[in-house]
Amino acid sequence: MTDSHHNIIIIGGGVVGLGVALEITRRFPRQRLLVLEKEDRVARHQSGHNSGVIHSGVYYKPGSLKARLCVSGAAAMVEFCREHGVPHQVCGKVIVATREEEVPRLEEIRARGVANGLSGLRIIGREELREIEPHAAGLQALIVPSTGITDYALVSEKYAELITAAGGTVLTSAEVTGIRRSSGEIVVETRRGAFETSALINCAGLFSDRICRMAGDDPGVMIVPFRGEYYDLLPERASLVRALIYPVPDPRFPFLGVHFTRRISGKVDAGPNAVLAMAREGYRHSNINLRDAASWAMFGGFWRMARRHWRMGLGEWHRSISKGAFARALQKLLPEIREQDLVPGGSGVRAQALKPDGALVDDFQFVSSGRVPPGKVLHVLNVPSPAATASLAIGRAIVESAAAGLGLC
Ligand SMILES: Cc1cc2nc3c(=O)[nH]c(=O)nc-3n(C[C@H](O)[C@H](O)[C@H](O)COP(=O)(O)OP(=O)(O)OC[C@H]3O[C@@H](n4cnc5c(N)ncnc54)[C@H](O)[C@@H]3O)c2cc1C
Repeated sequence: MTDSHHNIIIIGGGVVGLGVALEITRRFPRQRLLVLEKEDRVARHQSGHNSGVIHSGVYYKPGSLKARLCVSGAAAMVEFCREHGVPHQVCGKVIVATREEEVPRLEEIRARGVANGLSGLRIIGREELREIEPHAAGLQALIVPSTGITDYALVSEKYAELITAAGGTVLTSAEVTGIRRSSGEIVVETRRGAFETSALINCAGLFSDRICRMAGDDPGVMIVPFRGEYYDLLPERASLVRALIYPVPDPRFPFLGVHFTRRISGKVDAGPNAVLAMAREGYRHSNINLRDAASWAMFGGFWRMARRHWRMGLGEWHRSISKGAFARALQKLLPEIREQDLVPGGSGVRAQALKPDGALVDDFQFVSSGRVPPGKVLHVLNVPSPAATASLAIGRAIVESAAAGLGLC
């Protein structure tokens, strides 16, 4: 027995699941849509524990989904925030080269940004950097004027409000525990009952590979959680940072390196680092989940990744357990910052898909299931940063490419 029948169910009440749901309610207002979220409110995980940056799209490989959906998604996000009164600011950012060998990388990043359609990108020298960020130190910097800030928990709540107003349902405290499929229908079992649906989209973030398996599909990747830890600057030292100050990222690694972010609240934080977490929702060192740890240990790709990135991983661990090391990394960008200016802030856990060959999946990945009912199940398997920025564009892209298969039109 099921509680009700829906045209489409989305698993995951994060900014991506809600972004997809919002697009469905806009395009197909007659469809019965249900979002299932295991927590008691939306955006409790990645979407509520991030840096709040509206990324410009400057870093990503031209033509990739990340590049296309970040650039169009950033514009859509600014417009959405403006239209719905969500606090935001287009404050711009600087990417600062602090070592000679980083200077050519700045030009490469600028060229990528131009190829991705960004305007206003400019490489500046030390003096002009000082005019923009008076306390930053660097040899040269790239100005990215279209970068902004917002609060993605508020964005997610607004998405949920609009979905509900349009006739959709966002059901919280409804953890999905099982999925049964037959040629005609799909039954999703949750802690709040079972729901029948004609189509299903899995946007379960840190658990998207498990939900994929629960639906009888092989994700082909494993989600590995990378914790990002922040320090807050003492309020009296927040004036050291006007907007956003980033280092030149290491091209071998998908994360951007510890940076300074002025939040929409006015607070300034530093981070996040990228430490392998011992649990999918491992927000602290003490969070250890043996089931999670065992599943990585049994996945060959995990050991291949460890062999490839162990040096970087050790550096991140060192910065995680030593505040002094964290402060020293920050001093490269802001020499005046002292260890005593930093107080422990929050943390977030990134869901990063890992391939069996040990490579971290770089681009966004959406995979349609080949099993029955045909085309009716879609798994969103890799949506790391800048997916919050891109959430509206991701919603649009998924609906445009999969609506017919999902039976929405
Ligand atoms: C530290 C950090 C900093 C970041 N900074 C930025 C940034 O500045 N800008 C940017 O654009 N992006 C940033 N990101 C990335 C961005 O936050 C994520 O890409 C985005 O939030 C992913 O959204 P999501 O909906 O896929 O995941 P989530 O927000 O994690 O949502 C998935 C949801 O699925 C639910 N779920 C899981 N299992 C089940 C189940 N069995 N049943 C029901 N529900 C389930 C979870 O409870 C969760 O709410 C950052 C991420 C982190 C971690």
